[in-house]
Amino acid sequence: MPMTENGKCPKCDARLKRVDVEYTEIRGYKTAYKGVNYVCPHCSAVLSVSIDPLAVKNLIVSEVLKALGRG
Ligand SMILES: [Zn+2]
Repeated sequence: MPMTENGKCPKCDARLKRVDVEYTEIRGYKTAYKGVNYVCPHCSAVLSVSIDPLAVKNLIVSEVLKALGRG
């Protein structure tokens, strides 16, 4: 059985073969980060929140280029 067949939304009980992404902001004490909400495509319940992995990648690339004197 594929793993996704076990995954159910805790709010609406739908079996999830995919989730949707919504962009959000994660605020720290002095800093804000780009974040993503992983939401149920059936009822829009937020399943998880995370720092946006693509924003983190872009930040790392720009910091490396800056450190190399190319940014
Ligand atoms: Zn749901």
